[in-house]
Amino acid sequence: MHAPAPELLEVAGGKPIKLWTHGVPVEDEARRQLQNTAKLPFIFKHIAVMPDVHVGKGSTIGSVIPTVGAIIPAAVGVDIGCGMIAARTSLMASDLPDNLHGLRRAIEQAVPHGKSFGKRDSGAWQSVPGHADQAWKALATRFKRITDKYPRLEKTNNRSHLGTLGTGNHFIEVCLDEAQRVWFMLHSGSRGVGNAIGTLFIELAQADMRQHLANLPDRDLAYFEEGSRHFADYVEAVEWAQDFARQNRALMMQAVIGAARQVLRKPFEAELEAVNCHHNYVQREQHFGREVLVTRKGAVSAQHGELGIIPGSMGAQSYIVRGLGNAEAFCSCSHGAGRVMSRTQAKKRYSVADQVRATAHVECRKDAEVIDEIPMAYKNIDAVMAAQRELVEVVHTLRQVVCVKG
Ligand code: 5GP
Ligand code: MN
Ligand code: MN
Repeated sequence: MHAPAPELLEVAGGKPIKLWTHGVPVEDEARRQLQNTAKLPFIFKHIAVMPDVHVGKGSTIGSVIPTVGAIIPAAVGVDIGCGMIAARTSLMASDLPDNLHGLRRAIEQAVPHGKSFGKRDSGAWQSVPGHADQAWKALATRFKRITDKYPRLEKTNNRSHLGTLGTGNHFIEVCLDEAQRVWFMLHSGSRGVGNAIGTLFIELAQADMRQHLANLPDRDLAYFEEGSRHFADYVEAVEWAQDFARQNRALMMQAVIGAARQVLRKPFEAELEAVNCHHNYVQREQHFGREVLVTRKGAVSAQHGELGIIPGSMGAQSYIVRGLGNAEAFCSCSHGAGRVMSRTQAKKRYSVADQVRATAHVECRKDAEVIDEIPMAYKNIDAVMAAQRELVEVVHTLRQVVCVKG
């Protein structure tokens, strides 16, 4: 099938914007935000927009912002290193019990999530203590170097957050692929400690720029110039938070697999980190023959042959994808379906009955508190996938049978 070419949006006094959004809605406010970002003098070549694009804080979610010589901490945001992990198992659909409530309960107990966290003093530590100790040791030494310079960060309860899911949009799912094979998949990031790092450096960037802020179209576009006081420290801290996030996901996945082993009482193999990808992060990469800082704010790396995860919603299918290495998109793809309405709008428009209908095939919560996560609050994942046919190819289609919301 013919793959749609990106729409080109020229920006007066800025770099162009390329959108892979053919056939999916893009809010006017998102276009306005994109134009603001495109006007920053250190944007490299153009901004690449993914089909799940929607309004974010300062800049849009679902965008790839390549920069040279500067970094925008609010574009990375406070949910540093948020992403997805998927484990493929040797289990088949027929190995699962008819009633999945027990499996859901076991996962909920193994991984502190949402409001259940706080009643406990630590994350997946109880479930996988050896692994958690090891993971923490390596992280702690590096974290000390950061807190020596920024003592305010010492107060974060990072150690106890390691192995916890978080709230709201974060989730754990048991899925079946097109061959009826069982997968586990989860969505989480760097928790409180990443939030503290993000918040601190966003404030520092705004303070550093106080005299320039007036010239910025949005104060959340405040940036650090390479070589300035906080630039290198931010890069170090953000990399640390991204590593914390990646290990957080792996630890929770071990706990999920452990819980499944206990409930299912059947031996099985599991490829723990079949895919483990960030969708909220910044890193140095090579593009168009030079080194560039690439900020993916709700976008996934899709280098040629690289695997990624594109979740749909708690009622729609998700995809394991393989990157096509599209240079114009800075080798990226969408990080999901993307919202079509705010949480408030979703709660106003839909009822518990709607949620029950939309998640009929899923063992999950269906109460008033999860209506802001109702599948209809997200774009149509099929349309989103069609719009990015020149960015990724589908390797597996996953449908959830259990969904645990944070
Ligand atoms: P975000 O990181 O922006 O909060 O969410 C990423 C994407 O995950 C959303 O755009 C949406 O498409 C998808 N998503 C949100 N909730 C769920 C869920 O419960 N299950 C699945 N499979 N996908 C979800
Ligand atoms: Mn997150
Ligand atoms: Mn996320």
